[in-house]
Amino acid sequence: MTKKTIAAQKYNVDNSQISADALYIIEKLQENGYEAYIVGGGIRDLLLGKEPKDFDIVTNATPEMVRKVFRRNSIIIGRRFKIVHVFFDNVNPNKLVNNRPILERHIIEVSTYRSNKVHKHTLSEHGRIMVDNNYGTQKEDVIRRDFTINALYYDPVAEKIIDYQNGLKDIENKCIKVIGKARTRYIEDPVRMLRAIRLSIKLGLSIDKDSLKPIEELKHLLLNESRGRMYEEMLKILLSGYSVECINALIKLDLPANTFSLLDRVFFKPKPDQLALNILAKTDLRLKENPDVSLVFILSGLLWTNIYTDYQELLTKGDSARQSFYDSISMQKDFAYYAGIAKNMFNNISDVWLLQLELEFPNIKRVDKILGSPRFRQAWHLYTSRHEVNQVDPIIYNWWNSYIEAENEEKIKLLEELADITLIGKITTKKKRKRSYTNR
Ligand code: ATP
Ligand code: MG
Repeated sequence: MTKKTIAAQKYNVDNSQISADALYIIEKLQENGYEAYIVGGGIRDLLLGKEPKDFDIVTNATPEMVRKVFRRNSIIIGRRFKIVHVFFDNVNPNKLVNNRPILERHIIEVSTYRSNKVHKHTLSEHGRIMVDNNYGTQKEDVIRRDFTINALYYDPVAEKIIDYQNGLKDIENKCIKVIGKARTRYIEDPVRMLRAIRLSIKLGLSIDKDSLKPIEELKHLLLNESRGRMYEEMLKILLSGYSVECINALIKLDLPANTFSLLDRVFFKPKPDQLALNILAKTDLRLKENPDVSLVFILSGLLWTNIYTDYQELLTKGDSARQSFYDSISMQKDFAYYAGIAKNMFNNISDVWLLQLELEFPNIKRVDKILGSPRFRQAWHLYTSRHEVNQVDPIIYNWWNSYIEAENEEKIKLLEELADITLIGKITTKKKRKRSYTNR
């Protein structure tokens, strides 16, 4: 393995393209006598002419040493291995709350070089790495990374790129290549197979023949992954900006049942849920312009058809609409937890669902309260997606659409119109409900 050091200028990369916060961290670490580089997606995406999602930093300083440099602006977090989060509270002049700009926390991950040394006792019975916190040198760090294009180190102070694995050549060839023997590296960590697929789609790269071949044989290993990790990986897919293409690739890959519990139920069998696909397509489009998308909305949309199917079934048994709806939400709870959704997230999603009933059966006395509820925007997007698959009464949908835009007098007129719409009052139980939307 030979180390090549190349002037970043040759690839039209310079430090004006990286975030001021990342540059500050690197300067500060170097001033303290440590090595520090941008690694992974940050430099890879710049070289590919794309805007990086974030800038991960790698250093030879241990997490404790990094903490000493950034003190109160940093914390050590540790899951499979310890890393440091260095945070910055920046003013965002474009986001106002009560007419004042707000502070936004920007977190940069700083990790320590890791070693490739794998002790026998750290492997599970499936050959998977269980303990992964040996610190190492840069040379060791390179070969424990997944792909050659992810193993480039950029020093923005010296404006140099370090390449041990011909990653620059693979960037030029637009090719994802596993470092080392692909089969072994996938067995070590099966999630790398999913990363190869997601990154190839997101970045428009091909997967090298030898890196692609073992996937079919080894895909079943993903079943041994923890639910938490699969959930994280699912989020990366959903928020990649290319989720529809990724889902289609996963459908084609034909993963064993239950590899991704949630995606499995929504997209894989027997056929993909159209409403969920529409929601992903919208999210992909939105992400092209704005990185700020709501995960609550996406997840509420993916699980909506389950809720709605159960709801309709319960209705046929003669329960009231409200009761059937509450029951269908609680029936979904266990599955959602099983699929990796945390309790807090499920509660937020439930709020979006509960608002569907309010939207579908508007109650004159509550419409303004509904409009002001913190989850209204997400609920409205879901309601609109339901409208697009003809799942809601178009008269009511159009009424809301006008009401949202209306000014004072027009609103009064619209409320009078609403009173004439026959459905009103059919299922709302008024005083019986104590839940307040405005408090959540
Ligand atoms: P993204 O644009 O999705 O952030 P990324 O490549 O930066 O892509 P991260 O999950 O942020 O992905 O990981 C940062 C770097 O850590 C990767 O570029 C890669 O070098 C290394 N890495 C991440 N996951 C693995 C893995 N499962 N095995 C080996 N190396 C990994
Ligand atoms: Mg990254």
